[in-house]
Amino acid sequence: MSEPTILLVEDEAQIRRLVRAALAEEGYRVLECGTLKEGLAQLHAETMQLLILDLGLPDGDGIAFIRELRTQFSLPVLVLSARSAEGEKIRALDAGADDYLTKPYSSGELLARVRAQLRRAPQEGTAAETHFCFGDIEVDLAQRSVTRKGTAVRLTPIEYRLLCAMLAEPGKVLTYRHLLSAVWGKAFVESNHYLRIYVSHLRQKLEEDPAQPKHFLTETGVGYRFHP
Ligand code: CA
Repeated sequence: MSEPTILLVEDEAQIRRLVRAALAEEGYRVLECGTLKEGLAQLHAETMQLLILDLGLPDGDGIAFIRELRTQFSLPVLVLSARSAEGEKIRALDAGADDYLTKPYSSGELLARVRAQLRRAPQEGTAAETHFCFGDIEVDLAQRSVTRKGTAVRLTPIEYRLLCAMLAEPGKVLTYRHLLSAVWGKAFVESNHYLRIYVSHLRQKLEEDPAQPKHFLTETGVGYRFHP
């Protein structure tokens, strides 16, 4: 298989150079442009495996762009932005971004996020995954079974729904609103405390050390992420 192609939409030449250099060194093929209009044209011109998107661009707002993009493309979107406010991250993620990196960031961190997104990029033509292994845990969604080293783990229906919602999008930052709506329903999107309680239940039952979770990770002020 040829190397993944990454589209970088960023209007600052210096940042573009740095990001391109870091990605090229890892062997990725990088296409770049400085406006949303050019970015959209490139996405239509060929299949990309990842979009890295700056939010402040000369011809429009990146968040509105993500929302529009999501009606046509399913590729992962990693937002790169100088805007560090939690509200902005949440808006970008709710619009359909998969992850968010705030400037300044290290190239090591950038590459780790890129690898995570490329791993979770959907393979054309494969059915939704029903079998997951992480740590000592095995989950079989088809059988509705969760086992730890072969022994059944008992989850309540809410815990199981939350687990399914998180497994469905490994590596993606899932906002409070997204998870609350998926598990409890739209009337509960403000009830962040439910999530805190039930994520802590999942950690108690499924993490090796619940105090230092490796799989059910907190994204402070934004939501949670499942890391396989
Ligand atoms: Ca910019």
